[in-house]
Amino acid sequence: SAKKDGRNTMRFFDPGMASDVSHRLALEEEIRTSLGTSGFSMHYQPQVDVQGRITGAEALLRWNSPKRGAIGPSVFIPIAEASGLIVPLGRWALHTACAQLACWKSQPGLRDLTVSVNVSIRQFRERSFVQDVVDTVSDTGVSPSKLKLELTETVLIDDVDDTIEKMRQLKELGVNFSLDDFGTGYSSLSYLKRLPINQLKIDRSFVRDILTNPNDASIARSIVALSQALGLGIIAEGVETEEQRNFLAEIGCSFYQGYLFGRPMEAASFERSVRAQDD
Ligand code: C2E
Ligand code: MG
Ligand code: MG
Ligand code: MG
Repeated sequence: SAKKDGRNTMRFFDPGMASDVSHRLALEEEIRTSLGTSGFSMHYQPQVDVQGRITGAEALLRWNSPKRGAIGPSVFIPIAEASGLIVPLGRWALHTACAQLACWKSQPGLRDLTVSVNVSIRQFRERSFVQDVVDTVSDTGVSPSKLKLELTETVLIDDVDDTIEKMRQLKELGVNFSLDDFGTGYSSLSYLKRLPINQLKIDRSFVRDILTNPNDASIARSIVALSQALGLGIIAEGVETEEQRNFLAEIGCSFYQGYLFGRPMEAASFERSVRAQDD
């Protein structure tokens, strides 16, 4: 009977996979719904110079799912990317971060801050990406030179012509680029020279064991040397201890981001941290 067949079918169907797919679909639906409501917010994590002064922030998406509570980007970003929802979500993130930057522009003590915004490859490949950034900059009134877009190495190797064209147009507008998670991808060194990149961001995976793993220390050293040879800025992510910071400073890395200096936080807390250093 049909009922019996159904039961047989079920036996050969991996229940773990079924729940995985339906879980993803459920999350995708919730992301879609949250986009129209206020389920998403941006947090800001300090970026500091060699003196420990906050020079800017990385804007990081946070999601408070109405059903499940706080869910991290490592869970929802891949789902948003696979479903294409990263395009409207990324647009919202860019707009929100720029609106925040515009707000800081009018406040003494905050007006020199920069903001780094992550851009996923899917968002970058949109035909309207450059225009979206141009519109966001003009709608919010930010100084483009205070805006940094964080791209990953994947963007560099896949469709180089499109990448060069878009980066050149945005560079002309005055926008800056940071190469995120640097060292984990496959970028050819020749692209680094051809593209208008301003900064390399040493991936957290090399910083974590920098004091104990000679390979990680060598990679970090090489990235710093590369940035210097190409005249690029450098920042290390995932700096959690004073010892890591000191080691990085010794090898010539003079900007840092990590829990040692502050976790990603709401804009109001971030502003308090910036103001506190002038007291
Ligand atoms: P990412 O761009 O490399 O961001 C840095 C991540 O490292 C953040 O995780 C941050 O909270 C975390 N982090 C910073 N300092 C430390 C530290 O000292 N120790 C440790 N253990 N972690 C640290 P988060 O916020 O969970 O974001 C994860 C990833 O999600 C980001 O990695 C980025 O790839 C993506 N993401 C976040 N927001 C956006 C967004 O608005 N758009 C896009 N496309 N991707 C985003
Ligand atoms: Mg980033
Ligand atoms: Mg990163
Ligand atoms: Mg990372």
